[in-house]
Amino acid sequence: MRKQIAAANWKMNLSWQKGEALLDAIHSKDYQLTADRIAVFAVPFPYLHLAQLKLQDKQNVFVAAQNCSNKKSGAFTGEVSAEMLQSIDVTYCIIGHSERREYFNETNQQLAEKTDILLEHNIIPIFCCGEPLQIRETNIQNTYVGRQLQESLYHLSPEQVQQVVIAYEPIWAIGTGKTATKEQAQEMHAFIRGQLANKYGQDVANNISILYGGSVKANNAKDIFAEPDVDGGLVGGASLVADEFSVIIDSLKK
Ligand code: PEP
Repeated sequence: MRKQIAAANWKMNLSWQKGEALLDAIHSKDYQLTADRIAVFAVPFPYLHLAQLKLQDKQNVFVAAQNCSNKKSGAFTGEVSAEMLQSIDVTYCIIGHSERREYFNETNQQLAEKTDILLEHNIIPIFCCGEPLQIRETNIQNTYVGRQLQESLYHLSPEQVQQVVIAYEPIWAIGTGKTATKEQAQEMHAFIRGQLANKYGQDVANNISILYGGSVKANNAKDIFAEPDVDGGLVGGASLVADEFSVIIDSLKK
């Protein structure tokens, strides 16, 4: 089912005490959410279980990991497996964030493996894609993003690909305060949905949520989310402030 999703990405921020205080503040909010209008909180690994406990009675609110291993289990010191995430009832997992691609050299092939392993464990991948500035400046962003989709997702069956959430995050807009215009966001989201329609058919493409990420704030979320192919956002900095993220949740299309 295509959902409108406000997804918070805490990244590597907040001590346990500050994380707990933020979860308490989130818990105190009265979000108007439904089965197809949801909020997701991607917290650091050590806080996943705490977040599950704190948010378990909130309707249509889910906890996510920010990454997982592409290996099933074994001698991979420091890695966290999809099986481990499933065993603590984590329902979503971000993969392929541009920071992971850039600083940890994650490849499209590894992300294909992560997608498979998450789906095998009934965890919904939030698959990030998006182009760096020099690609945008030479106007080849569609080719670049099309290739990310092709190499990481196109081996999936139509049933499987509909389980995946896609987050389009132009790298030049992440954490920079520069947001893509709503027109730029809509253009790329329509391109992504068009590519999925070419590969899997329009009905399948229409079922896939495509989030926008890149300096989404309380004051711009509503405009961006109103675009027809934008199904919410993946939010970094602004998700660390409960009041600001509440406004972003409220900005989801109804
Ligand atoms: C992100 O972390 O995916 C992100 C988009 O960050 P920010 O909202 O801070 O740009």
